[in-house]
Amino acid sequence: MTSKKIIAVYGKSGFGREVMPLVSTTIAELNSSVVLFVDDSKSEEVVNGYPVWSYADLISKTDTEKYVVIAIADAAIRRSIARKCEKDSIKFLSIVASNHIRMDSCTVGEGAIFSSHTVLTSNIQIGKHFHCNIYSYVAHDCVIGDYVTFAPGVKCNGNVHIDDNAYIGTGAILKQGTSEKPLRIGKGAVVGMGAVVTKDVADGAIVIGNPAIPMAN
Ligand code: UDP
Repeated sequence: MTSKKIIAVYGKSGFGREVMPLVSTTIAELNSSVVLFVDDSKSEEVVNGYPVWSYADLISKTDTEKYVVIAIADAAIRRSIARKCEKDSIKFLSIVASNHIRMDSCTVGEGAIFSSHTVLTSNIQIGKHFHCNIYSYVAHDCVIGDYVTFAPGVKCNGNVHIDDNAYIGTGAILKQGTSEKPLRIGKGAVVGMGAVVTKDVADGAIVIGNPAIPMAN
């Protein structure tokens, strides 16, 4: 049994391995913590020098505080893991790269990840478990729901509203809306890589191209 705080990056694959190095820039007192991966496929014991635990290993530790950041891009998986952790009274950690820039009046929910070279400008509201991958930005007056995922290099201009579980692909550009008529990306929508979104995207739609249009089935 350990009494040191446990800090776990949930997901040991691609994104998890990119997030792990940012733990040390986020947590000041790492020497009083044990840092590890949790993964439901425990095919390796150690990844990049960090132990890999199963979820059962994590919840078996009852004499310590446990913090998790869920570094898995799939929103539905993230949501179901978050529910499980909440039931087991595991707390959520947000991870913020040391060169992340955040301006005025931004609110961000628990469990967020801001990778290197990401920017939030001013007056932005973001829900729970947001992923903002490398070189992405969110500009003024955007409102972003829960479990939204930005792949690398997303340019989210001002007055864009993005609903829960939406996925914005690498290098996508979201056109600036206005305060009277924000550009809206619907719940669970997917914006393909490199898409230039100039019009609202419906719930669950997949859009691609420049200008972005719904993908043909
Ligand atoms: N995973 C998990 N529990 C789940 C689903 C996925 O632990 O319910 C793990 C999976 O074993 C893998 C990682 O999460 O190690 C997801 O990796 P993937 O490369 O699919 O996604 P990414 O790292 O790009 O988000």
